[in-house]
Amino acid sequence: MNIKNYINGNFHNPSSNEWIDNFCPANGDIYGQIPNSSKADVENAYIAAKSAFPSWSRTTLEERSRILLKISEGIEANLDKLAKAESQDNGKPISLAKAIDIPRASSNFRFFANAITQFASESHESVGMNAINYTLRQSIGVVGCISPWNLPLYLFTWKIAPAIAAGNCVVAKPSEVTPMTAYLLGEICNEAGLPKGVLNIVHGLGTSTGQAIIEHPDIKAISFTGGTATGAHIARTAAPMFKKLSLELGGKNPNIIFADCDYDDMLKTTVKSSFANQGQICLCGSRIFVEASIYEKFKTDFVKKVKQLKVGHPSKNDTNIGALVSKPHLEKVMDYIKIAKEENGKILCGGNQVTVTGFENGYYLEPTVIEVPTDECRVNQEEIFGPVVTIMPFKTEDDVLQMANKVKYGLSATLWTNDLKRTMRMSHQIQAGIVWVNTWLMRDLRTPFGGMKASGVGREGGFEALRFFTEPKNVCIKY
Ligand code: NAD
Repeated sequence: MNIKNYINGNFHNPSSNEWIDNFCPANGDIYGQIPNSSKADVENAYIAAKSAFPSWSRTTLEERSRILLKISEGIEANLDKLAKAESQDNGKPISLAKAIDIPRASSNFRFFANAITQFASESHESVGMNAINYTLRQSIGVVGCISPWNLPLYLFTWKIAPAIAAGNCVVAKPSEVTPMTAYLLGEICNEAGLPKGVLNIVHGLGTSTGQAIIEHPDIKAISFTGGTATGAHIARTAAPMFKKLSLELGGKNPNIIFADCDYDDMLKTTVKSSFANQGQICLCGSRIFVEASIYEKFKTDFVKKVKQLKVGHPSKNDTNIGALVSKPHLEKVMDYIKIAKEENGKILCGGNQVTVTGFENGYYLEPTVIEVPTDECRVNQEEIFGPVVTIMPFKTEDDVLQMANKVKYGLSATLWTNDLKRTMRMSHQIQAGIVWVNTWLMRDLRTPFGGMKASGVGREGGFEALRFFTEPKNVCIKY
């Protein structure tokens, strides 16, 4: 199936008529093609967005909210179709796409449809000066949204929904590796009555299509989720043009387990936080630190549970681990397993490719647990972004805090303990944008979401996203 660009409410082939193959990770087949969009296509998308902006930015909040709710309902109504498309495109189990990815894409629109009706700005009375200041929060204009392949529609809509709720018009690019659900979103937006040009979706490679978006002189803000190296490149390109930037980047998140935790709950959740979505979630707890007194017990129990995970075709309901997203990504993850061995890591389970009968060319890998001799080895420091976790014991709270913080990333952290004082001490000192205590990936969409250090700049979520997608202007009136 050929995907098209969605520009000004219509579907278009790329102007160059150049196409990129789209692979199905579950069997390695090419099952469609996507536009290899050029600068000219991005320009067309920009022109459509620019012409839609004056009217959309003046559309009442009630009307914007009504349309966003309709998009949310449209996503819900197409749950099965979108989940199937997401699973086929990405390799993730269909059960996951149905339970998490697509419902969350719908929630993103519903959340921002409501949030925009509650978004308020400040006023400051300048006492003794007979003046009042108020802050206008104005739509920015045309903004760019660029998203990765791991949670395709989930993250694509996480950016688009607040951008258009705040009155902007958007030029968006999903990952070229997983373009399908973004393509299907176009039709849903048309059916929901989103005016032409408010959202424009161009497909293509990061280095050409994405590059044309970030260097476009009149696309004034960029919301990007993806790898840290790409984020650094975007920052270098956009900084001299003084664009507003929100960068949600990579992670290497610690999962810190103290002996006083609720053990069964911790064990069950740790399997999830290690391997959900084949470990391809920026928030996965890929470095597991366990208090020495329960280390051996944890090791045995964890490995036993991980071995029970079923690697299989994503369309099967009993599949726990589907296919990795692409062949190059599978090779990258396999390379890290090799590196772990070279660094004297001990593979406690997994480490090998899996052949799924009937789908021999799919990109399957066993969930892998590596016991590492030191926290400084490469597999403990670098983002692998696959079904691979490291484990090692720790003795004291100070030791584990140091190890947790001794990476370049700072996205999220998980703590397992029932000691309130320790919870407070640790969560205040951990260098991460998000700390989960006795849970993982529990999301309330009102909370600030994002990372520190090499995990990014800025926060999304709730009013933070609406602040990002608006320009504050102070108006001072003397009376
Ligand atoms: P990536 O950086 O390769 O690509 C992300 C997007 O950027 C894609 O759409 C790509 O086409 C585009 N892109 C690439 N080069 C570009 C350029 N020069 N200009 C403009 N756009 C360009 O990342 P990926 O491999 O798709 O995703 C995996 C990464 O995303 C991991 O590092 C993961 O941790 C991170 N991630 C972070 C979060 C978060 O919220 N912090 C969430 C999910 C994924």
